[in-house]
Order: sequence, then structure tokens, then C-alpha cells
Amino acid sequence: MNDHRRLGRELGLFDTDPLMGAGLPYWLPDGAAVRHALEEYVRDAERRAGYQHVYSPVLGKRELYEISGHWSHYGDDMFPPMQLGEEQMLLRPSLCPHHALIYRSRPHSYRELPFRMAELGGMYRSELSGVLGGLTRVRAIQLNDAHVFCTPDQVAEEAFAALGMIRAAYDAMGIEAARYRLSLPGPGGKYVAGPGLWERSAALLREVLDASGVAYEAVEGEAAFYGPKIDVQIADPAGRESTLSTVQVDFHQPERFGLHYIGADGGRHRPVMVHRSVIGSLERAVAHVIEVHGGAFPPWLAPAQLVVLPVSEAETEPALRLVRRCRDEGLRARLAAPEEGTLGARVRAHRLVPYQAVIGAREAADGLVALRLRDGRRLDARPADEVLHRVRERIASRGAEL
Ligand SMILES: [Zn+2]
Repeated sequence: MNDHRRLGRELGLFDTDPLMGAGLPYWLPDGAAVRHALEEYVRDAERRAGYQHVYSPVLGKRELYEISGHWSHYGDDMFPPMQLGEEQMLLRPSLCPHHALIYRSRPHSYRELPFRMAELGGMYRSELSGVLGGLTRVRAIQLNDAHVFCTPDQVAEEAFAALGMIRAAYDAMGIEAARYRLSLPGPGGKYVAGPGLWERSAALLREVLDASGVAYEAVEGEAAFYGPKIDVQIADPAGRESTLSTVQVDFHQPERFGLHYIGADGGRHRPVMVHRSVIGSLERAVAHVIEVHGGAFPPWLAPAQLVVLPVSEAETEPALRLVRRCRDEGLRARLAAPEEGTLGARVRAHRLVPYQAVIGAREAADGLVALRLRDGRRLDARPADEVLHRVRERIASRGAEL
């Protein structure tokens, strides 16, 4: 079974050290390359969709989370406060309160809305050490988060567009949603008051799900404390479900933070906050991609996209030149030198790399590259220009095709 914890260690993607602490994995270079490719993808997709990126700190004053409601509704999952002089500081459990303050820092006209604010930012959760493991139960989380501040009329369109971004990202990553869930409040949960607003939010999300044509189930007891949400569920190889992506409609936090915009009538109006995450946390997204592909990542996500294998020492120099050239052209390329073993052993050792370029005497003399693809296909020796052009095109398309 493709357990991401085993593969993560075997493939040298991430690891943990008891001295850093449980639930605090670190990323090795190959894992960081996968994560970085995903981050680039999501930032690019967000820019194209009209999002603007911000940065905000990973901690804030306790008062901030009292206003947002996190301290009273979510405090059990937060790290204890740090006393700093007269103040208490908290590691943040979410990015929402910071984004609300950033919105509030400048006046806004209805003409600027929707204001789509995005950040790949850190947040923290004080999970018990007994449940920690791999990249899926962690205490430090890097979230692909965004908040769309919009008028009530714009909510459905924004939530619908967010669902479209989620589906496009899943296609690129080669993963599938196990289930779409409309998460509603349930008995016994901690929720903020305002039942009228809950019904309004839930109705909007239902409308969005119906319009998008996906099958979904409404489940009670899974809502956020401030509003209902659409959860996109993924399943691990053992069939265990978890939430990767979400779209939430929130009338509560704009109220708590006193957010407003100036409407066409010149008056002050309350915006709605649509919280959305396309690929969820980078930790969970990478864990899932590892398990789905068993380490044979789509070319655009592969830690090494092309490996160059000189047949013998005599071809090491031209092979190195090809590696440098690939890197110049933005490819993640590496050399598998003859001292690593026989050609056959090196081909096997790098079998997960999408493209292998074997450089023998003829290729070295004529400047040719004979490409082997991960699926076993071999392409005829062609000029390096042509071969690299083909590889770059496949990677840029962000498909699964080699
Ligand atoms: Zn949020």
C-alpha cells in the first residue's frame, strides 16, 4: 500500500526529528521541490483568477482571536498563550482574522469588490502527540488560503468560481475528489449565534453545488463555528476520508470586525467573506499526491524531471553540459554518474524520474539525446534542442502525459 510516510522516507521527501518535535516534519530537497511546484501552480492560478497576494504574521494578540471567536470556539485546538510583558500572544489557528484586519486597514468602495485576498501562510494546531504522523496530522500547517470580500450578490458567483479552481487543480495533480460534502451545523457543536444567517449561507452553498453539477451529501455537525461550508473530501489508500479543499460563506466575521464598503448609494454596507482553499494545506496535498502516484509524480510535480546518464566516464563531460543546459531552461535535472553503478542499475535507481537521457559515444559526438520515458517507451536520438523543447512543452501543460 502506498503509505505516504513510508514513501516519504524511502524517496527522501520529508522526515521528522524528535528534537524538532512530533508533528513538525521538515522537507528534504526533493519534497521541497514538489511542494514548491504546487505553490507555484496555486499562486499562478490565483493571479489568473484575479486574486491578490498578501503576507501576514503567524501569531497575534489573544484579543484578535477573542474578537474572531476562535479563542472561545476553537481554543482547545490552539497552543497555550505566550506571555510577553502585559500581552498574551497566540500562534494563529487560521488566517481569517489577519485578512479581516488587512481588509479593514483601507477604505473600500463597491467598485473594488470582490476583493480576493490570498496567502500561502502558516498556522498551528495543538494536536495531541498520540495522533501525529507523516504530513497528515501535523502541528504546523502551511495553508493555501484566501478570503473573498464581496457583496451579498456576488457570493454565489465567487463560490462557484472557487469550485472550478479546485476541480482544475485536482486534474493537474492527477487526483480525484472522493466526495463533495455540504457541511452544516449539528447538535452539540460550538457555533456562533444568528440562525437566520446560517440558513442563508447554507442555501447559497446548495445553489452553488447544484449549479456546478457535482453529486454531494449534506452532513450535519461538520460546519465551521462561524458558518456552513463545502468540503471536498479525499480518501487515502485505506479509504479513510479527510477534507482537502473548502469553500465557506461567512456573514459572522465581517460583523465581528466591523468591516464595510461604501455602496453605490454612498452608504456603508457589510461585505460577506467567502473563505476558500483550493489545495488545502500543502502538507496534506503533498501527502495525497505521493499516495495516489506512488512517487511517480506527473512531470510538472516530479522532484527530478530529467536524469542524464552517461554510458561511461568518457561521456560525463557532455552529460554534465546537458544537465546545466536543462537547468538553464528551468528544468529540474540531475546527473546519474557512472560511479553510481552500471547503466542498468542507474536506470532502475531513477525509474521514477519521468525522462531519462542516455548519452553514449554517438550521442556525445553528434550532440544528440536518446530519451527513455518512465513508462518504458524509447524515443529515437534527436538533437538536444528538439528533445528539451518536447520535455518543456509536456511540463508546461501540467498534464500526466510523458
Ligand atoms: Zn478563513
